Amino acid sequence: LIVDSELEVRKVLFDSLIKDYDVFTSESLNQALDMFKQNPFHLVVTELLTPEAKGIEVLQKFKELKSDITVVVVTSYKSVPSAVEAMKAGIYDYITKPFNLDEMKLVVLHALERQRLLEEAKEKEIYQELALLDGLTKIYNRRYFEQKLNEEVTRSTRYPQKFSLLMIDIDDFKNYNDTYGHQAGDKVLKDVANILFYRSRKTDFAARYGGEEFSIIAPHTDKIAGSVLASRIVDFVSKKDFTLDAQTITKITISIGLATFPDDAATKEDLIQVADKALYQAKKLGKNRLCLFGAEASE
Ligand code: GH3
Ligand code: MG
Ligand code: MG
Repeated sequence: LIVDSELEVRKVLFDSLIKDYDVFTSESLNQALDMFKQNPFHLVVTELLTPEAKGIEVLQKFKELKSDITVVVVTSYKSVPSAVEAMKAGIYDYITKPFNLDEMKLVVLHALERQRLLEEAKEKEIYQELALLDGLTKIYNRRYFEQKLNEEVTRSTRYPQKFSLLMIDIDDFKNYNDTYGHQAGDKVLKDVANILFYRSRKTDFAARYGGEEFSIIAPHTDKIAGSVLASRIVDFVSKKDFTLDAQTITKITISIGLATFPDDAATKEDLIQVADKALYQAKKLGKNRLCLFGAEASE
């Protein structure tokens, strides 16, 4: 939501953001507050000198509606000091007029990322209660995974953008259980879950798909970026020592199949299926590796 009394400012911001986001504009603070009540926007970009309120009062008015709101301020160069002051009061960032559009877009991107993380943290608490976390590994379970994948397909269809799905399977895990016992196996599952959680971005979703199978949904991630993430994980796991006790250090490897929406599939079911196909290919080629769907012939 863009709030500025100058038509030109609203127009420039609107025109350069509308390709990537749903953008709304308002010429007055009061109107903007009304709009916010109807639709709690993810981000407000506003001037600080409005007839209705000045400086951090503007922020406070929005905070009354939503306490963890993300606000970015539009300011002229000469008013930068007051914008910086406003940041101490909880403004997320500022952009200066005349706009450097690339810089402005970066500020907006980071601000939305911050808002998303906040909402996710809240979501996490709620979902824990709804038992959407896997009991053993404490990462998301299959149910949450399905739900998240639905959301991602819907979102990526609406705002044309790509996301990648990684299907991950521990290699020769039956063997591992047979050698070290089921309890040791359980510990490895927890360790792998932790690796997937901490090695992926905050905005990615790692889940236990079932048994010794995991998955990661990586939003805003095309095949190249997805394969960087996936091969980093394959590599990390293969090098890691999985310690059972002081005397026993064990090794495991994983295989990953990767598919990208919408390049490889148009529905959630098909996307899972083609990522699984790539995973199968990784197993067939000798495990401990990543295979990309659509590139099965090569490693
Ligand atoms: P591949 O390399 O082809 O994936 O072979 P694999 O042995 O990993 O695959 P397979 O599907 O034959 O066996 C999976 C094994 O994973 C079987 C089961 O003992 C083990 N497993 C599944 N869930 C759990 C669990 O919750 N805890 C433990 N410890 N093991 C599990
Ligand atoms: Mg398996
Ligand atoms: Mg396996």
